[in-house]
Amino acid sequence: MSNPLVEARQVIKRYGNVEVLRGVDFTVQQGEVACLIGPSGSGKSTFLRCINHLEKIDGGTLTVGGDFIGYRQQGNKLHELRENEIAAKREKIGMVFQRFNLFAHKTALENVIEAPIVVKGEKRQEAMEHARSLLARVGLSHRVDAYPAELSGGQQQRVAIARALAMRPELMLFDEPTSALDPELVGEVLDVMRDLARDGMTMIVVTHEMGFAREVGKTIAFMDEGVVVEHGTPERLFTAPRHPRTRAFLSKVL
Ligand code: ADP
Ligand code: MG
Repeated sequence: MSNPLVEARQVIKRYGNVEVLRGVDFTVQQGEVACLIGPSGSGKSTFLRCINHLEKIDGGTLTVGGDFIGYRQQGNKLHELRENEIAAKREKIGMVFQRFNLFAHKTALENVIEAPIVVKGEKRQEAMEHARSLLARVGLSHRVDAYPAELSGGQQQRVAIARALAMRPELMLFDEPTSALDPELVGEVLDVMRDLARDGMTMIVVTHEMGFAREVGKTIAFMDEGVVVEHGTPERLFTAPRHPRTRAFLSKVL
């Protein structure tokens, strides 16, 4: 049964006079993984930022979540939500960036407990227990007391994923999570993401890792020049792309 967690219809986003999103249509169903691929500058990060309420849209509608996240942006009307309401919604959405942005002066464990304690008011003991289980889940039980500088890029990114999960998100957004990593460290991060997907987490993943997209993505959307040019199952999109721009892009990256 169809149960969209994110549904974008003709989403427009401008910076000044430049229309960066020019009518994006996009859907991700609850419990599914949607991968977003496309050339640099096509608007992928901007679109994720709109979903996460870091940007306001200038047109179209963007519905995020059912009962648990629950907001609908309609053109610039979303601003009727107050700042504290927006913050409450954003707590339900975890985001992982290309750059891990961990607090350098905090250990892995301290990084993971920070938001649950500060933002959600969780008790320290409870937050610590949860953080330890999340760090175990990303394969870092042995590194809970390490500082970011003592960790590899892949380990830091896994801490960043644990940190996002600590807020018990209903939706996870990944913006090129492996692009800043040395090639030999990419696999360990993708393994963690694959595991999350298997557990039923709803995820939108912007990635250049076509192997991952093909294996884990339930749907793939190809974005170019501010629109989703086409979308489909990985099988269909990778083997029989319909649009010349999709074909041109795939011929360069596959
Ligand atoms: P992608 O993630 O696909 O590489 P982006 O969403 O980062 O693309 O960028 C899409 C376009 O929007 C680019 O042309 C970029 O220069 C422009 N852009 C992104 N953020 C801003 C901003 N804050 N102000 C002005 N232009 C921006
Ligand atoms: Mg980007």
